Amino acid sequence: MKVTEYFEKAQGQTLISFEILPPLKGGSIDSIFKILDPLMEFRPPFVDVTYHREDFIYRKNDDGFFEKIAIRKRPGTVVIAQAIQNRYGVDAVPHLICGGFTRQETEDALIDMAYAKVNNVLALRGDARKFEGRFIPEPEGHHYAIDLIRQIMDMNQGKYLDADIVDGAKSNFCIGIAGYPEKHFEAPNMESDIHYIREKIKAGGEYIVTQMFFDNKKYFEFVDLCRQNGITVPIVPGLKPLTRKNQIQSLPASFYINLPEDLVKAAEGAKNTEAVKQVGIEWAVAQCQELKKAKVPSLHFYTMGDSETTRKIAEKVF
Ligand code: FAD
Repeated sequence: MKVTEYFEKAQGQTLISFEILPPLKGGSIDSIFKILDPLMEFRPPFVDVTYHREDFIYRKNDDGFFEKIAIRKRPGTVVIAQAIQNRYGVDAVPHLICGGFTRQETEDALIDMAYAKVNNVLALRGDARKFEGRFIPEPEGHHYAIDLIRQIMDMNQGKYLDADIVDGAKSNFCIGIAGYPEKHFEAPNMESDIHYIREKIKAGGEYIVTQMFFDNKKYFEFVDLCRQNGITVPIVPGLKPLTRKNQIQSLPASFYINLPEDLVKAAEGAKNTEAVKQVGIEWAVAQCQELKKAKVPSLHFYTMGDSETTRKIAEKVF
């Protein structure tokens, strides 16, 4: 079923959903099941699987010279999505990015998904490679998420890159997109960012999943701004509990978000790791309760490999 159909069916009731990361290369699919098994009792209608592009590492050879090697540390997104659907009977939403893909490779990935009966996708641009500083598309690749959305919509119409294919099979992808309650870091201002979100929706995006945030006010303001600008699709809040003290610096640095002063003070004052986790859980529970009261479409948890914390929050909210 399409993600948006679940929202329609829920008729204003808040659902729960999860995002998981593929295991590091060399790991096993069982590690995914170990994260998801304990979360399935909450009956999520869908589970997202992130996509990780290759990055470059430098390896020192015997001759003393460094060799530049491209490595994908977390491969397997589409197959993991299929495995999740088979094991749990829920829908999986693989993320697909522009970075590292030519249009042809994007088409092949979409064909794999359609054959696997994976009919939901979160369409994203992806970030710059660590050493590049700014996003550089592949030659023949997409510059922005909107270009990827257009390609997916073409396939939904049976239109493939090869013009010789007439009467091609029509895929049936429901497309989600990303949104940023605290603005995407490259956007010059919120108005510009909202403008491009509206364009992505016009191009075929059917719902929005937000970047994590720790102050619900940011989410509510973002939703208001979207509505004022004619964006009417469901806006799913993305949630990540604070679990370690070092995240006070690392989360803002990695995700360009702010942490409320009260949360920072409470986490800094916590005596040990367990106490920090408890602070993060209580904060997230309060966030979730308020969001649920506001009838958001789903509470979407970025599990980041930690199902225990997510479970503790979900138990208090659902
Ligand atoms: P876009 O929508 O393309 O926007 C990028 C920037 O360009 C924005 O500043 C926007 O305002 C601007 N812009 C958009 N369109 C245009 C245009 N036509 N002309 C000029 N400017 C434009 N990354 C991964 O690598 N893998 C993942 O699995 C992943 N999952 C994510 C899930 C969620 C819910 C979120 C919020 C992010 C995720 N990301 C993931 C990170 C994402 O790839 C980055 O935030 C990336 O920098 C932007 O992606 P986007 O799809 O929002 O880009």
